[in-house]
Amino acid sequence: MKLPPFDYACPTSLADAVALLAAHDGEAKPLAGGQSLVPMLAFRVAAPALLVDLRKLEELRQIAISARGVSLGAMVRWCDILDDVRLRTAHPLLVAAIEHVAHYQIRNRGTVGGSLAHADPAAEMPGIAVTCEAAIAVIGKAGARVIAAADFFHGPLMTALAPDEIISEIRLPPWPARRRFGFAEFARRRGDFALAGAALFCDPDDGGRVRNAHVGVIGVADRPLRLAAVEDVLNGRAIDHETIAAAAAAARAAVDPPDDIHAGGAYRRALVGTMIERALQSAA
Ligand SMILES: Cc1cc2nc3c(=O)[nH]c(=O)nc-3n(C[C@H](O)[C@H](O)[C@H](O)COP(=O)(O)OP(=O)(O)OC[C@H]3O[C@@H](n4cnc5c(N)ncnc54)[C@H](O)[C@@H]3O)c2cc1C
Repeated sequence: MKLPPFDYACPTSLADAVALLAAHDGEAKPLAGGQSLVPMLAFRVAAPALLVDLRKLEELRQIAISARGVSLGAMVRWCDILDDVRLRTAHPLLVAAIEHVAHYQIRNRGTVGGSLAHADPAAEMPGIAVTCEAAIAVIGKAGARVIAAADFFHGPLMTALAPDEIISEIRLPPWPARRRFGFAEFARRRGDFALAGAALFCDPDDGGRVRNAHVGVIGVADRPLRLAAVEDVLNGRAIDHETIAAAAAAARAAVDPPDDIHAGGAYRRALVGTMIERALQSAA
């Protein structure tokens, strides 16, 4: 299907990009890699008057690793994350999750900011953001602000972003060296969006008991979820067979997935328990 007509701008500074969005009062959209926006144009789900291409904004392409954690610019692509060997120790959970994103071609163009703004409930990056208590930095005509990932996702394609705001970066808190983690997802074909997925980490004490459990799931609600009930089961216990079974049961009880064309709600509920089991086995 042909795209609807639109004007096109390719600014060379973030300030110019924000000014263009602000001047078009909700009728303009940022263009990152086009991996979701172009299909949305083709299907007439979106018909902006102007596309503001972010590809010349070099400041959005940085990956920074410091004592304050990992910062990913909005135009960092999936292949940039997978190619950066530093991230394998600086944030192995991020890398484990992004290994499941789509296929080679899409990983070469799809971006961190595009995924966060698109807010697909089954996407890996939003799930990691919520699980890890990330901070999402945005800039608009009213200035810059930082939104907690827990407050960012409002539903499929719906976020806390104002129409004139651009995501500039996402900041993931520091990753201690002894941290345990696991990521598991199930998709019908490798690279498809997950039918359900689980991301988790914890910091065991010297006796091997879980502390600081963080558990998130994707694909089972209208947005990525953090499951406090599962974290409560895990904290203070060793990761053994009994704990894993209890955590999986708590996860199944905590979600209420809808039926859709890809899977029934009951199947997704069962699947999320299995994904929690697998992620915990991997963490252990
Ligand atoms: C066949 C296929 C399979 C896929 N499989 C997966 C998968 O398994 N897992 C997964 O997570 N993703 C998957 N994706 C999605 C893909 O990885 C991209 O993350 C996603 O499509 C966003 O693409 P993009 O970065 O090119 O953004 P675009 O398509 O350019 O933009 C998407 C939306 O974000 C907005 N936007 C973009 N950048 C910004 C910004 N900096 N600030 C504010 N708004 C912005 C745009 O205006 C638009 O509304 C798949 C995509 C395809 C086509």
